[in-house]
Amino acid sequence: MSESNKRAMRIRGAALTLLALVFGFAVNQSAQEKRWYKGNTHTHTINSDGDSTPDEVVRWYREHGYNFLVLSDHNYLTEVDGLNSVLGAANKFIMIKGEELTDEFQKKPIHINGLNVKELVVPQHGDSVAGVIQNNVNAIRKVDGVPHINHPNFGWAISASDLKAVKNNRLFEIYNGHPQVNNLGGGGMPGLEAMWDDILSTGITLYGIAVDDAHNFKTPGDRTKSTPGHGWVMVRAASLNAGEILRAMEQGDFYASTGVTLRDYQADGKQIAINIAPSGTSKYTVQFIGRWGKVLKEVTANPAVYTFNGDEFYVRAKVIESNGKAAWTQPVFLNK
Ligand SMILES: [Zn+2]
Ligand SMILES: [Zn+2]
Repeated sequence: MSESNKRAMRIRGAALTLLALVFGFAVNQSAQEKRWYKGNTHTHTINSDGDSTPDEVVRWYREHGYNFLVLSDHNYLTEVDGLNSVLGAANKFIMIKGEELTDEFQKKPIHINGLNVKELVVPQHGDSVAGVIQNNVNAIRKVDGVPHINHPNFGWAISASDLKAVKNNRLFEIYNGHPQVNNLGGGGMPGLEAMWDDILSTGITLYGIAVDDAHNFKTPGDRTKSTPGHGWVMVRAASLNAGEILRAMEQGDFYASTGVTLRDYQADGKQIAINIAPSGTSKYTVQFIGRWGKVLKEVTANPAVYTFNGDEFYVRAKVIESNGKAAWTQPVFLNK
């Protein structure tokens, strides 16, 4: 082989290596593309006061289009490794382990979920409502778990000012499917959405989740019981694993839903755009909500777009469906 041929081959080889690198990179990039995963982070089994075994509960969610589930029994950490290996479809459905730390302060129920905790955390107690919450949040963080604060209006236990005092917590329930948790407030007590805007308006970043808190799987149509399928989150993540899902949730890259599905949600420095996946004959109204709960704009077009003025402090969106279902996107802060 002549020198010039050898040189030509070397160049071709280098070009192929480069192509492989570029192509490999492109393949990697597309593997990293994010998609939406449906999940519920609050459910009970017979390991506390639920009526069904972990197997049965998992089966219900698996058969109803979910991608991930947390079994959160009261002060009990259910092992999920066995369930995960039986499921055998790690890119379609995973179990994330968890528990509901079930504490109280002067008879007020204070329940904090610990998601993906390394080991069981026992209730930590404390000398005020906020103190009990904080001690439990700290204990969950200490074992690499992600906390979320549950049903603040259950027993009218947790106020917005209690929640404002808590540090190192990103998630709380703005919708809980249990029939006795007073999501909407009333009789002079604020609902969870009003509490949320109160907290956000002081500059605290707190994201709103929707959950089932299901206990009863034997009587699915009975709304006097806490049945499954009423509240969930749709999380945007690069892949389906506990770390990715929980990281995305703590960054607010998800929406809460009681039955509304979005085709897409985009927020950048200029605007929020919401593309609703319509269902049947339902009609939709999108409210863009700012500081102190003020409705900044109401849109009936789909996609619904809100362009920032820059002086809103924060903007979040609520999609209201004509049969009472809803979706909530997370606040986008401006000039905080
Ligand atoms: Zn609870
Ligand atoms: Zn519960």
